[in-house]
Amino acid sequence: MKKLVRGGAALSFVLLLGATPVPVADLVLKGGTIHDGSSRPAFVGDVAITGDRVTYVGKAAKLRARRSIDASGLIVAPGFIDPHTHADFTAADAARRRLDLWLAQGVTTIVTGNDGAGSFDVAGQTRALAARPIGPNMASFVGFGAVRKEVVGEGDVAPNAAQLARMQGLVARAMCDGALGLSAGLFYAPQKFAKTDEVIAVAREAARRGGFYDTHQRDESSYGIGLLASVDEALRIGREAGMPVHFAHLKALGIDVHGQAPAVIARIAAAQAAGQAVTADQYPYTASGSGLIASLLPAWALDGGITAIKARIEDPAQRDRLRRDMADNLRRRGGANALLLTSAGRPWTGKRLDAVAADWGVDAIDAALRIIHDAPEGSSVASFNMIEADIEALMRQPWVVTGSDGSAGHPRIAGTFPYKYARYVVERKTIPLATFIRQSTGRTADLLGLDRRGYLRPGWFADVVVFDPRRFAPRSDYVNPEALAVGVTTLVVNGQLAIDGGKPATNLPGRVLRRSAVPNCT
Ligand SMILES: [Zn+2]
Repeated sequence: MKKLVRGGAALSFVLLLGATPVPVADLVLKGGTIHDGSSRPAFVGDVAITGDRVTYVGKAAKLRARRSIDASGLIVAPGFIDPHTHADFTAADAARRRLDLWLAQGVTTIVTGNDGAGSFDVAGQTRALAARPIGPNMASFVGFGAVRKEVVGEGDVAPNAAQLARMQGLVARAMCDGALGLSAGLFYAPQKFAKTDEVIAVAREAARRGGFYDTHQRDESSYGIGLLASVDEALRIGREAGMPVHFAHLKALGIDVHGQAPAVIARIAAAQAAGQAVTADQYPYTASGSGLIASLLPAWALDGGITAIKARIEDPAQRDRLRRDMADNLRRRGGANALLLTSAGRPWTGKRLDAVAADWGVDAIDAALRIIHDAPEGSSVASFNMIEADIEALMRQPWVVTGSDGSAGHPRIAGTFPYKYARYVVERKTIPLATFIRQSTGRTADLLGLDRRGYLRPGWFADVVVFDPRRFAPRSDYVNPEALAVGVTTLVVNGQLAIDGGKPATNLPGRVLRRSAVPNCT
């Protein structure tokens, strides 16, 4: 999976020092501590940029530039790459399409269409972004859920042969239009109604075109098949479809599976030892972001979508059955105090589910059912369901990269990268700075197959972050999830300054990153 290309010939500027005249660069970042995205040790030096490319990385005696920025005492690295976001929702808002939430974290490339959601019309999405550019670069997946919903609908049914062929056709089309691979969210309805063989049959179309399988796996907890069997299912899908597997936001969710990270790691390590390409991303918070519907309702209640769910809540007999099944899901999630309601502008915004229930004089299940029934679009939650030991065990794996899963109502949308740095590099010393940077840049670019991004190298695209190691920190929390991070002093996207002197610029330098030269496309 190579070659995400944005037109234009490969330019290779090399500054010739010594007797030859030194070309004038557009910008030089001088005297910073450079982490180049690889495993090479950091060194103090300069980075020169001309046009949209890096032209020099090293220790230069003399560099001439139209603009020089003093980076001494600061960290200079490739711009961070976020492989899992729901930024398409934020980007759809004209006033927010610069995506400062990500730029302020030092992120220069985001990926969307994760969890099987998003659009299956990758060409249309690319056209729309070209007309309405955003701040960072963006690449996308084709979503299994979007495709299944389009062809099969929201019911608990299997596709017939014609429907399966149509799903395969939509995935093939999206891959040929430049998608990175197939994303799936088998935890979510209606995707959860798909059997493993169906997913494999659809995923093969992405595999044939060089894509990989990005999965929010079927069970991160103990809802159904359980965490470990779910890991095995994802590995099987990759093996039988013939493609790399990438676990999105890998975690052990809920009290039944706390402490299972080492067992997950062992299974993945065994697959890797057997020759399978397996990676994962992770956000560094103990709460996940979800909704009351996905968190608490049993699978049988999801058949048919929200209209059918509401009818079940109104029917006394089904409501009793719902209440029983939801009680176990609430226990699994850690109880009503572990669910914080985060949808903006509601009477319950910022309250825990137990507090809402007390306000209303009902039990937590009835409170949840009332919200789901009356305001399903207002039922987002932060669900506190992970433990530090699991988070840190996963973070230490060289195949686990940083990913925000950024979505409304959770501080990870504006804080993932600086929070991981501040808490797990500086405060807890879980991983060294070099590991944090490598797993937020070069390694991520490699697994995504991004063309000439993720490393500071002459001739490569000039996506660069400069941050102050003493100040780089999140400002977002569960009360103010979208407060912008601080500490990035300079951010360069495709050679343009997106943050200058610690202040956001107003430009929209992001590009659509599409895979090109995709095999098996006509
Ligand atoms: Zn997800």
